[in-house]
Amino acid sequence: MKSSGNRLEVEVEAAASASPKQPRRTRKRRKLKRNSSRTIRSKIRLPVFEWDGKGSDGKSAQPLHSPLKATVEVTGDAKSRSDAKESKIELKEIKITVAGMDANKQIVINVPNSDMEASASVFLKKADGNGVLIEVPVKLEFSFEDPANDNLEKTAAFEYSPGSKLGKRNDAAAVFWKAADFSPSKLETPPNQMQPTATELADYASANPMKQAVAKLAIEAKAQLWFDAIIADYGNRVSNWFTAAAVPGGSSLLAVQYYHPKLSNVGTDGQTNFWPAGISINMANHGTGMNIPGHPDIKTWREVQGFNRGGISVIFKNYGNAGRLQIICRHEIGHGTKSAFKRAEFGAGDHSNSGLMTPYGSGALFSVADSGKLRGKS
Ligand SMILES: [Zn+2]
Repeated sequence: MKSSGNRLEVEVEAAASASPKQPRRTRKRRKLKRNSSRTIRSKIRLPVFEWDGKGSDGKSAQPLHSPLKATVEVTGDAKSRSDAKESKIELKEIKITVAGMDANKQIVINVPNSDMEASASVFLKKADGNGVLIEVPVKLEFSFEDPANDNLEKTAAFEYSPGSKLGKRNDAAAVFWKAADFSPSKLETPPNQMQPTATELADYASANPMKQAVAKLAIEAKAQLWFDAIIADYGNRVSNWFTAAAVPGGSSLLAVQYYHPKLSNVGTDGQTNFWPAGISINMANHGTGMNIPGHPDIKTWREVQGFNRGGISVIFKNYGNAGRLQIICRHEIGHGTKSAFKRAEFGAGDHSNSGLMTPYGSGALFSVADSGKLRGKS
């Protein structure tokens, strides 16, 4: 069935059928009978037709177009036209889901600028009263009401990153809803090219200082990508392991024996031989604000004794003595406070210049400045 404007056109086919007196006969036998000279009666059989909901302009009819008026018109020799019949397109429900919402329909937003995806599924009402999920584009308008009394004035709120403050009350520039960006550039990353070329290796080994310097930079850039890829990979694997081992959510402290071979200074497992002598990369993780220069093939990039991820802290058994173990536990729990309440960073990479929270835990106690941050100071 096609629709042209408000008029629905239907072609009605005329078909012969066998006498209703022989209902149990098969289709094949009926056909044989029909081909014989027996008397058969003809009747008009209206086909069951469906409409995909689209007009001649290709656009879908929506609830806002209701009520619709439909007219069935028979063309050809037997001209006929039905009365206009009114029909409605009704919504059954709109299901709104917000990623990360808990059983109490609350979202814990500990990182204020993080995005949470909200999606709406629109169900139309079928003739039987049930809902059916549609692909028809429906314009939805979300609105959001800021609970003013529970929200801080922007000017009085903690600035957790440059230009970003916790409170949004009376902030005309605050963004509550934004359109999701599904563009390819946001979803795909280019492949890393980590292998030095034969030319780069030859230039680096050559006696030409100019060629050597250029090749060194190129090889070091690739070695840094290689390091970053390994860090990203073990980061993902740790996440997978947290899930596979059913590490309890909330606040956990885990004792683990082994870490990545290049991060645990036990034995010589971490030694590799991929890169030419004399190159150097930064062996610190991104975001720590640290620079630990070294050759990428070295057996230990860093001697990691613990790390923290939100509510989970992991301690490795390469700590040495009991006093050091105490510092490591305190240090990682110190990082963990950031997921328990809002506070200023201790410094770059959440590390401080003195006391317990220096990158290597140079003291057993928080510095005075760090204690202040734990109490809400900036
Ligand atoms: Zn740390």
